[in-house]
Amino acid sequence: MYDVIVIGAGPAGLTSALYLRRANKKVLVLEAKTYGGQIVKANKVENYPGIISISGYDFAKNLYEQVKNLGAEIKFETVLKVTEDKKVITSQNQYQAKAIIIATGSENRKLNIENEEDFVGKGISYCSNCDGHFYQDKIVAVNGGGNTALDDALYLADIAKTVYLIHRREEFRGEDKRLAEVKNKPNIKIILNSTIVSLKGQDCLEEIIIKDNQDNKQTLKVDGLFIAIGQEPKNEIFSNVVDLNEKGYIKTTDGVHSKTEGIYIAGDTREKYLRQLTTAVSDGSIAATMAIKEMN
Ligand code: NAP
Repeated sequence: MYDVIVIGAGPAGLTSALYLRRANKKVLVLEAKTYGGQIVKANKVENYPGIISISGYDFAKNLYEQVKNLGAEIKFETVLKVTEDKKVITSQNQYQAKAIIIATGSENRKLNIENEEDFVGKGISYCSNCDGHFYQDKIVAVNGGGNTALDDALYLADIAKTVYLIHRREEFRGEDKRLAEVKNKPNIKIILNSTIVSLKGQDCLEEIIIKDNQDNKQTLKVDGLFIAIGQEPKNEIFSNVVDLNEKGYIKTTDGVHSKTEGIYIAGDTREKYLRQLTTAVSDGSIAATMAIKEMN
């Protein structure tokens, strides 16, 4: 019997575990993939108060070690089901807790076009930080208009020969400061009002075909494509214990409580206004504190 099972080892989940261990609670963190969540992909984090600059990977590693050193149990197992009486069933085991914190974050949004899956690892990547080094002096494209796409373009511009930055609108969603840096890089070519309509290649990705809002098509020869078009939650497995909104995010009554007593929600996976590292760790600390308070 655990006091609390935290599902997800991203910044929200690990922060929950940190607060729970400091309150001496018996805690199990369950993670399907690797720890750190989306922040691992950020080349630089420069908007976290008190830290001038750190890589997303280092931030996640520090947090993971901090939580491990405090004695949290962390297991890499895929959660399949959660029950109202706080049982958690994974691909390998079944666990019981007094409370559960769901902090499963979100996953990379896919373009959902033909061949996308076939070219993953053969030219298509969702993480410039992980795969950028394969494209030394090559031609790559980044798709997206948010901070991730801008960061990816900047990171890749120092590695690749040419970086096409393809965005579906005229205006970028990402910060002006980053956009100014992008515009200053001579090897980043910005292509606006365009979407990727098909992917071509024999064994690996060789060409992408883009279409602008006048329906004009253009073929770009590329060695790699970095897709950075945002994230989507994967919350269907929890739908027996929580309510989901139309986009699949978990609804809360007050930012932390789900509709089931003793099941708390933290981080990007919940319906919220701002999905950032700062708000994820804030959610994690509140969910843990609430679980501790209501358990006693
Ligand atoms: P995002 O802000 O949601 O941006 C996604 C971008 O992809 C948007 O420009 C969107 O276009 C475009 N898009 C969505 N679906 C598309 C589709 N099917 N085809 C083509 N384009 C599509 O996602 P993000 O950039 O991953 O950022 C997520 C959050 O993390 C944000 O809050 C961001 O600020 C934060 N972040 C922070 C840092 C940092 O501080 N170091 C780094 C990265 C991200 P529209 O604009 O037309 O909707």
